[in-house]
Amino acid sequence: MTASKPRRRGTSLRIDAHPLAPYPQVMEFKIVELEREPIEFDLALTPGAVDLGEEATQIGLLATSGLAEVIHEHRGPKDIVADIRLRGQFSGKFQVPCARCVEPVEIPLSAEFDLIFRPAEADSEAPERSITAPETEIGYYLKDSLSLEDVLREQVLLSLPVRTLCKPDCKGLCPRCGENRNSTACTCEEGPADPRWEALAGLRGRIKSES
Ligand SMILES: [Zn+2]
Ligand SMILES: [Zn+2]
Repeated sequence: MTASKPRRRGTSLRIDAHPLAPYPQVMEFKIVELEREPIEFDLALTPGAVDLGEEATQIGLLATSGLAEVIHEHRGPKDIVADIRLRGQFSGKFQVPCARCVEPVEIPLSAEFDLIFRPAEADSEAPERSITAPETEIGYYLKDSLSLEDVLREQVLLSLPVRTLCKPDCKGLCPRCGENRNSTACTCEEGPADPRWEALAGLRGRIKSES
């Protein structure tokens, strides 16, 4: 994780990144800075600023804005845990593979988030706990700072639809030769519908999209 300071203009809390100007590749909210004052952010991130892995590709600018602040959790008279609350939103366009033919499909995504991050060491004495629904709402930050990139990556991936089709009647890949049947009428024999072939086509699609 590269530590890179959110830029501030004068005493303003606003952090602006002009789309054409360099911007912090990784924004870190440091707990020492948040203890002084909440930090407002308003960014337009070019593709690559948030590494989304293989699941989605960002197209154009990813707009995100919000507020990071410290919330003190009073666990006892001398046991105060400094949580980071991050509220904000993002919106952008992304490309994901069609679930049937693996052709890229462009989808707009936007979501609001309101998240709490606790210092990782605050719960470290607790043994492995089973994750219950409310607990999944709590994230953790390491080394006294929270990476906005990490948060955005998770939020974008969470907002991806489970299944995206390039069109409702996408014909998918031929389970025998792998041709995209939307564009090519292959000469493979039409066998009886067998769900195992469909599964194979899906697997082939995954391999294709990963290569
Ligand atoms: Zn398709
Ligand atoms: Zn075929």
